[in-house]
Order: sequence, then structure tokens, then C-alpha cells
Amino acid sequence: MSHTPELPEQYVCDGCHAVYAGTVSHEEGTYHYSKPDECAACGSTEFVPFEQYVRHKTA
Ligand SMILES: [Zn+2]
Repeated sequence: MSHTPELPEQYVCDGCHAVYAGTVSHEEGTYHYSKPDECAACGSTEFVPFEQYVRHKTA
């Protein structure tokens, strides 16, 4: 069985809506996703998980 996650977590910048792949770390058999520290485009530190962003925009 593969332990590779099916889909990387993605985050959307709350400032300019740029999409970033989450940083993945692998610890003790589980994957942890971390949002980016700072948007490279606008410098915002506020990020929304991509799925949450999509739901919000289509609600
Ligand atoms: Zn941004």
C-alpha cells in the first residue's frame, strides 16, 4: 500500500488569491500539511484551505 497522499493540501492567499501547495512533512507515518508562511506575491500571511475557499466562493 502506498502512503503517498492522494492530493496535496492547497492554500489560497486571502490577499491576492494565489494558490500554494502546502508544505508536507512526514512524521511517524502520518503526513502533516502546513500553510505557507507568507505569500510571495503580496506578502499576506492569511491563507484559506483550498477546499474551504471553493465552498465559500460557490455557496
Ligand atoms: Zn497574496
